[in-house]
Amino acid sequence: MGKLSGKTALVTGGSRGIGRSIAERLGSEGALVAVHYAFNEQAAKETVTAIEQAGGRAFSLRTELGVPGDAEALWAAFDEGIGEFTGAAGTGAGPGADADAGTGEGGGLDILVNNAGVAGHGLIHEVEEADFDRVFAVNAKAPFFVIKHGLKRLRDGGRIINISSGVTKVAFPGMTSYAASKGAVEVLTLTLAQTLGERGITVNAVSPGTIETDIHPWMADPDAKAHAASFSVFNRVGQPADVADVVGFLASPDARWVTGQNIDVSGGSGLG
Ligand code: NDP
Repeated sequence: MGKLSGKTALVTGGSRGIGRSIAERLGSEGALVAVHYAFNEQAAKETVTAIEQAGGRAFSLRTELGVPGDAEALWAAFDEGIGEFTGAAGTGAGPGADADAGTGEGGGLDILVNNAGVAGHGLIHEVEEADFDRVFAVNAKAPFFVIKHGLKRLRDGGRIINISSGVTKVAFPGMTSYAASKGAVEVLTLTLAQTLGERGITVNAVSPGTIETDIHPWMADPDAKAHAASFSVFNRVGQPADVADVVGFLASPDARWVTGQNIDVSGGSGLG
């Protein structure tokens, strides 16, 4: 029995990078994992297969985030996917929801990880309005409405974990819009922790430093990678599992008394 046996988790952007590692970690703890993706179906299938090969259970669902109606579309895809997987009714547990759907795995949810995100580059005078809107739509607006529309599915005692970034701790002028979008996520985290405490739901953020994923194509350059590594006191760039292990803790019963926090997972970047 894993620590998350009987739990259901949704990881947005679970097809690749940090999200894949989180999905695998939660699956290895016994959770049924809904692996969300937008464009890369093959990668999502690979994540599902990796979880299954490790003895876990998962299914994938597709929704593009950052477009009108994205959150409702995501939950419709989740309801359909979990209904097919478990044979459960589509709407989940929580206030006002079908009570039958709230027992066991049912159609409800225990762990929501808002991980999907896009990079946004440029000093403020270089950022076009359309690029700003895109970064905010995917990184900040989508998590807001995914949570809003997911609350009736999220069971009491559940977990919301939002992936932020170390760019809110140290100034990164070259990523102005991205940093601002992650700042929004952190304030949302703090605010919702207060709102959802009465339901026993914890809400936390995790802020990675530089992690080796597709989001950083420049890491193919050894010099650029070495420079990024030098920010950490461990003199290496992070790996997706470095983040996933912390998310695994926050998702577990062990983290029941931790809420409203932003956990730095940057290998000591910017300590001084
Ligand atoms: P990747 O680019 O490796 O993966 C991004 C994931 O998000 C993919 O699963 C992708 O799906 C999904 N995604 C991207 N755009 C959309 C969209 N419009 N709608 C729905 N899904 C989308 O990124 P990382 O793993 O590096 O980043 C994951 C999170 O971690 C992000 O929020 C990022 O900001 C944050 N982060 C990353 C750091 C890093 O150094 N890597 C550092 C700090 C924070 P698909 O496969 O279908 O394209």
